[in-house]
Amino acid sequence: MLTREAIFRQIHADRVEPIQQLVAVDYDNTLQAPISFHYGGRDYEVTEVIGRFRASTHDPSVLYLVRAHQEVYALYRDLTRPASPFIWHGQWVLHFRVDVDQEQGDDMLVDMKLKRVADFHGHLCPDLVIGYRAAQAALPRLTLERMYWQNLRVIVENTTSAVDAVQILTGCTLGNRKLWLRDWGKHVYTFVYGQDEGLRLSLQERAMPENTHLLMLEEKIQKEQASMRETAQYQVLLDEYIAALLTTPDEVLFAFQRVAVTWPIEPCTSARALCACCGEPVLKTHLVQQEGKYVCRACSEKPYVSACEA
Ligand SMILES: [Zn+2]
Ligand SMILES: [Zn+2]
Repeated sequence: MLTREAIFRQIHADRVEPIQQLVAVDYDNTLQAPISFHYGGRDYEVTEVIGRFRASTHDPSVLYLVRAHQEVYALYRDLTRPASPFIWHGQWVLHFRVDVDQEQGDDMLVDMKLKRVADFHGHLCPDLVIGYRAAQAALPRLTLERMYWQNLRVIVENTTSAVDAVQILTGCTLGNRKLWLRDWGKHVYTFVYGQDEGLRLSLQERAMPENTHLLMLEEKIQKEQASMRETAQYQVLLDEYIAALLTTPDEVLFAFQRVAVTWPIEPCTSARALCACCGEPVLKTHLVQQEGKYVCRACSEKPYVSACEA
């Protein structure tokens, strides 16, 4: 089955089979999406809406990219025609089918380690690649240190996709408390060994490939203003950007520095007590005192979760 990324690569390369036929569509008003269409004497049930696009801000027609019968189709509701007694305003046109025969694979995923990381994360993206490159650059530089000090730990200064790559490649995870997250929004990674020593890698801005066009398209996509062509072009620019990140030498991509580290000593206990406010069991180390009562941090701060009304 074509991945989302592969679908847009195919569209960008015009590997599509044009259909351009009027079809009957079952449209769900609540979901605001087609749920099935009838084409060539067969019913096609839509199993996934991949995207919803507008040709331009002035064109009211909406194009849907959908998965049906393991294939990907583009269909649009033509709203540009003037309503007349002979033309039904708003009829559906099955535009094209994405070609699966000459699928362009993810050349970048020949590296099995990178593939493992991308499979875990769900997709291949620039931040993931930066995390992958950081771990791949640091670990061989610490072979000796790791031989004597097996206790490798990592400080990560962002909460981007990169964290997933670092966790998989180093085995230092949030769960095993060998990963310390400090979200400063920086691609800085400190690989800690021994008592208090570390190798700090920070991303060099000058090493980053040019990406103005990529960022412009990304913003349009996030605002749901990008056309299907622009989304396809974005995928290709993203592929190029990732390929550039993968081929930049370690020393150009990162600044390396040996540093002294103070790893936080946090009491590790599994003893629990009940929060005086919500009554839920909480780790004793995580209770805070408020107005003479011990409450959990969720209750002590502004609530960000509240029960739905039945
Ligand atoms: Zn990602
Ligand atoms: Zn509570």
